Amino acid sequence: MFIANSPSILQEYFKQTIDSQKTIGFVPTMGALHKGHLSLVKSSKTTCDITVVSIFVNPTQFNNSHDFEKYPNTITEDQQLLKEEGVDVLFFPTKENMYPEASTLTFNFGFLETTMEGEFRPGHFNGVATIVTKLFHIVNPTHAFFGQKDLQQVAVIQSLVQSLSFPLELIVVPTSRDQNGLALSSRNLRLTKEQRQDASLIYKILNSTIDHLPKQAANQLLTESIATLSQQGFETEYLRLVEMNTLKETEYVSNKKLALCIATNFHGVRLIDNLIIEPIC
Ligand code: AMP
Repeated sequence: MFIANSPSILQEYFKQTIDSQKTIGFVPTMGALHKGHLSLVKSSKTTCDITVVSIFVNPTQFNNSHDFEKYPNTITEDQQLLKEEGVDVLFFPTKENMYPEASTLTFNFGFLETTMEGEFRPGHFNGVATIVTKLFHIVNPTHAFFGQKDLQQVAVIQSLVQSLSFPLELIVVPTSRDQNGLALSSRNLRLTKEQRQDASLIYKILNSTIDHLPKQAANQLLTESIATLSQQGFETEYLRLVEMNTLKETEYVSNKKLALCIATNFHGVRLIDNLIIEPIC
């Protein structure tokens, strides 16, 4: 596995060794890798000739400096995992290499970036769009892999790819969960084993809410679900039933593809998750 610490080293390596006819799969991450990240890597390995993974904890997408400072770093283990998966290139740049200029870029994704995560993490998607744009320009992938777990991020990046005409295919990979249903996340490392077990209530609540949806309007159900979570120590920022394409809130299951999305804090750790609801015919 070739490791590049700067855009110029990566681009030089590509120029020297990679046939321009080959497909390049790209998996951007912030490290502290788990099986969820590795499912994206596996998907790239089966789809593309070359797989490039980046590890960069992007400061511009954190609106909370405490969250940024506490972000787990397991780079030695990450490198080992990526080698075992047969990754071809690891791009592991420094902050100075990624942000040589002090100036920032500004994007406008309208409602897609102001709802849900955008309400609670102002500026988050501007930081995501900035780093993803830079990474796409540096790596030049033919395919880019993102997790369904970050559903709103996928919507924003789909819009970014369209509006800037990036010549690549976006591939969305289903959420990997532990055996209790908790969505795998690097932030789970900040919970004890017991807390992780208790945090699987999120998945159970998402499922039970969906089970009741055809019979009851969302509004009351969501309020009840938030209350149940609260009794067990979860401080929920939002639990919303939204249309997949627009992220607009809706009350009823319908002939549109919907998603039930949550962000909740448990023992000081912010966890997000979602489940997709297929259209009823
Ligand atoms: P992160 O390192 O958290 O920025 O995540 C990097 C990529 O991995 C993003 O596309 C995430 O959506 C994806 N990802 C994170 N957790 C999971 C998971 N449990 N299942 C599938 N993909 C995931």
